[in-house]
This record gives sequence, C-alpha cells and structure tokens, in this order.
Amino acid sequence: MIDLHTHTTSSDGTDSPRELVNKAIVQGLDVLGISDHDTTSGWQEATESLRGNLKLALGAEISCLTDDGISVHMLGLLFDPLHEQMQTVLEETRDGRLPRMRKMIQKMQAEGFDISIEDVEKAMPAGATMGRPHLADALVSKKIVKSRDEAFTDLLHNESRFYVSHAAPTPIEAIKLIRLAGGVAVIAHPFASRRGQILGVEDFADLVTAGLNGIEVDHRDQNPSERAVLRVIAAELDLVVTGSSDYHGTGKLNSLAENHTDKAQWEKLEAQANARRVISL
Ligand code: AMP
Ligand code: ZN
Ligand code: FE
Ligand code: FE
Repeated sequence: MIDLHTHTTSSDGTDSPRELVNKAIVQGLDVLGISDHDTTSGWQEATESLRGNLKLALGAEISCLTDDGISVHMLGLLFDPLHEQMQTVLEETRDGRLPRMRKMIQKMQAEGFDISIEDVEKAMPAGATMGRPHLADALVSKKIVKSRDEAFTDLLHNESRFYVSHAAPTPIEAIKLIRLAGGVAVIAHPFASRRGQILGVEDFADLVTAGLNGIEVDHRDQNPSERAVLRVIAAELDLVVTGSSDYHGTGKLNSLAENHTDKAQWEKLEAQANARRVISL
C-alpha cells in the first residue's frame, strides 16, 4: 500500500513523525509520504524512525494562493531539502501564519469569543507550522466547540467571516520551485469543493506547463464524479494519478491509507524526480 499524503505534529497532525512511521510499519505500508504544511521539519525524525521494509517519500504540502485568491494545496515530494530557495519560501509562508492567526483571533474577539493567541500557542506542538486546526483545538479546550470538525463547520471554514488568508506562492510558483529543487509536484485534492472555491478544468494546462507531475484523485473530500473528471484531465495531460489519506491523526476522521496510490503510478511519479530520494533501509 502506498499513501503519499499525511501530516504529523510538525504541522496540524496529532502523531509525531515517529508515531506515524510506526503506524505505517504496523499496517504494512510499502511507501509512506509525509507532507506537513509548509515545512520539512519532520523529515529527520521520520528518517531516524524507519525500520523494516517501509520506504519514505518525504515532502511538504505547500499552501498556495492563485491571483484570484483561490486556495490551492501543492504536494512537493522527493525534493532536495537543502535547496535554499525552497526553504526560504517555506519559511516565508510559515512566518505569515502568525500575523494571520492574530487577525483571525481579533475578528473573533470583536464578536465576544474568549480566545487569545496564547490559547492557540498552548494548543500547538513546539515548532509546528501554525494553522487553523490549532485555533480549532484551542476553541475545543475552551469548550467553545466540541471538535476540530465543529470548529471548521461553524467558524473557521474558508468562507467564514473570521477567515483570513496568509501570504503564499501561486500554484505555478510552487510547482516551478518544487521541480527546481528536484522534486515532483502533485496537486492535492483540487476538487475538494466543500473547502471553498476551486480551480476550473481549464486551469490545469498552465500547471502542466509549469511542471506539474500528478493529480491527487482519490481523496475523501472528492466525490466519484469529481474524481472521474480529474481522471480524464490526468489522462489528457499525461499526469500521474495518486490517491492518499491526508491522515491527520485524531485531528480528522481520515484513517491512514484509506485511499492509496497504484504501484505503477507511484513508479512513474518517482522516476520524474531528478534523483532517487526515496528513503529505505
Ligand atoms: P490552514 O493551513 O491554517 O489554512 O488550515 C488548513 C487545514 O485545516 C488543512 O490542513 C485541513 O486539513 C484542515 N481542515 C480543514 N477542514 C477541516 C475539518 N473540517 N476538520 C479538521 N481539519 C480541517
Ligand atoms: Zn492539515
Ligand atoms: Fe490540503
Ligand atoms: Fe493535507
């Protein structure tokens, strides 16, 4: 089984990289992709935790914004973690997340919510990329909502009056950067329309010109007809088709490897990196 998109305590997942690698080994996964939001900080612990036959495809899920303000998530896998420009862009995106969180909290305070930036910091593992799920966790500990999911449904979704975006590269910039750093770029859950505005079918050609390698098709936030359209786009543009869990530990219902990637598709994807960076013992 191949699962190329998961999160750890390096961003908004609830398992440490070591715990996640252990779960993948227990479940007998062949390849585990770790793709924390805008960071590579979990790569070392994941690598040190590797045992047995599991292979690691390390990466990051890069938060992007189109010029029209549409939020897009780009998975970069198998890039050179020492690539300077990559680390600079990831760092800039992470830095933008603190003022963004302060603005969201100000908006909530203005409506009388008892929540502060300190509450969010308390709800966050040390060194994690700060995100809305940590604000959700803080709202849960203050008993304002019951779960992350309720926090997103009622207060934190992309169309919410409390929502604020943060500085981020465009999808085209992110793809070019991932490829420049030697990795492969897979657009994550492009038709997850429940989250907000999404790209149109006509937008994919420009992404391919920028170097896009694949489309995440099998993902719980995409229904069968959305997946069917994505499969057609992938076939027409000769893109790799992936499936993944987007596992976040207890932060979401998604279970590890609930969706997975075909072996032949994985081999095609892996061959498009500029060096063999899959980690195995
Ligand atoms: P941010 O990067 O701060 O904009 O937060 C986006 C993150 O929120 C994504 O990683 C999603 O996995 C997470 N998210 C979105 N909707 C939900 C939900 N209903 N329950 C839990 N997490 C969610
Ligand atoms: Zn997340
Ligand atoms: Fe995502
Ligand atoms: Fe994700």
